Amino acid sequence: MSDLKNFETLQSLCKRRGYIFQSAEIYGGLNACWDYGPLGAQLKKNLAELWWKTMVRRSDIVGLDSAILSHPEVLKSSGHVSAFTDPLVDCLDCKYRFRLEDKKKCPQCGSQNITEPRPFNLMFKTHAGSIEDQGAVVYLRPETAQGIYVQFLNVQTSMRKTLPFGVAQIGKAFRNEITPGPFTFRTREFEQMEMQYFIHSKESSKWYKYWKETRLQFYEGILKNIRYREHAKDELAHYASQAVDIEYHFPIGWKELEGIHDRGQYDVKMHQEGSRKNLAYSTSTGEKIIPHVIETSVGLDRMWLALLCESYREEDVKEGEKRVVLGLPKKLAPIQVAFLPLSKKEPLIALAVKLRDQYMDQYFVDYDETGSIGKRYRRQDEIGTPLCVTIDFESLEDQQVTVRDRDKMTQDRVAVDQLTSYLNNKL
Ligand code: ATP
Repeated sequence: MSDLKNFETLQSLCKRRGYIFQSAEIYGGLNACWDYGPLGAQLKKNLAELWWKTMVRRSDIVGLDSAILSHPEVLKSSGHVSAFTDPLVDCLDCKYRFRLEDKKKCPQCGSQNITEPRPFNLMFKTHAGSIEDQGAVVYLRPETAQGIYVQFLNVQTSMRKTLPFGVAQIGKAFRNEITPGPFTFRTREFEQMEMQYFIHSKESSKWYKYWKETRLQFYEGILKNIRYREHAKDELAHYASQAVDIEYHFPIGWKELEGIHDRGQYDVKMHQEGSRKNLAYSTSTGEKIIPHVIETSVGLDRMWLALLCESYREEDVKEGEKRVVLGLPKKLAPIQVAFLPLSKKEPLIALAVKLRDQYMDQYFVDYDETGSIGKRYRRQDEIGTPLCVTIDFESLEDQQVTVRDRDKMTQDRVAVDQLTSYLNNKL
């Protein structure tokens, strides 16, 4: 298990080190909204790219980037307008409003004096154009999946795909969550990475199993504290025949990270009915079929959060001295190499800056000349920088630098003209 006992510790590290800030903090903050700082944004991009490459660099899956503003008919057909709701109750004593779930008393004051649950639609509704009438209603999409279903035939014909094939998408989704948090676990604006795999119904068991295993393998490269949780029959969405969550052990316990769902023919069927357009796929033998869908769906922000929880560790360095390390995988770290001149003397700075600029294209690099070298190492440890390159006075004489390893804290003396191969090898 991770050393992280609570989200507060991580949250303060994230703010201190430029990973994430409360949105609109100077105005008191906007609840459940976050702004990723320089390092957080880079880490998010690195994760998204890993997912995108894994999904799209294969012969059977293509990418898509559909609109966030959604046609109301799309969301009527999908069932979101009528049924994308949470049961909401009010505490009659302290007036707190919360999602009912299974707790039957107010989480704020403990009172059992609560209203009957009322359905609350989680979608953000707005108006397109200058007139706020009913005809101009659009929604911010509550998931990226619908954009894929309504374009599946355009994608299939333009890209000459035959079943089975998938469409992957990364993009923002919006849900007016009643009980957001903790931290970024559940937010009102978040990013999803979804892939819809279109298949022949008779192959659904095979592909469900395939995606279940393939998605777990993806995580095995970056997270340890993961497990499957199969959905019980009474938990399944009405259209789904089987579903499994990949769960991560967050400081609040085992929670959903990604869902893999066998959605049957529901989505394409509903859009065919709603749009009155023929969305059937023609097989090579001329048979017209409605494809069956296996979906993989994960929140990018939640994956980011899991990765930080997993990477966080506290270590005793020596008597009374502790260090905090983000042991991020080297390929994902937002800073991979930091260049540190031992002192602020001009020739040391010049060499450190020269090396930083030399490696800037190849790696995510940082440069820091402020404070004692010990403090700078601790800062890079907390950021999760795998390697620090220190330039000292001897470097000017012998053209060698010291490379410090984040995890082992070992130091290697490396000739400047060998540094490229050394870094390539380590990273
Ligand atoms: P929950 O029951 O936790 O609200 P869900 O089962 O409705 O989530 P899905 O609709 O299956 O979630 O969404 C797929 C993935 O998107 C989730 O596994 C999660 O990683 C992410 N996700 C969903 N809602 C949020 C949110 N409000 N904030 C951050 N990530 C989210």
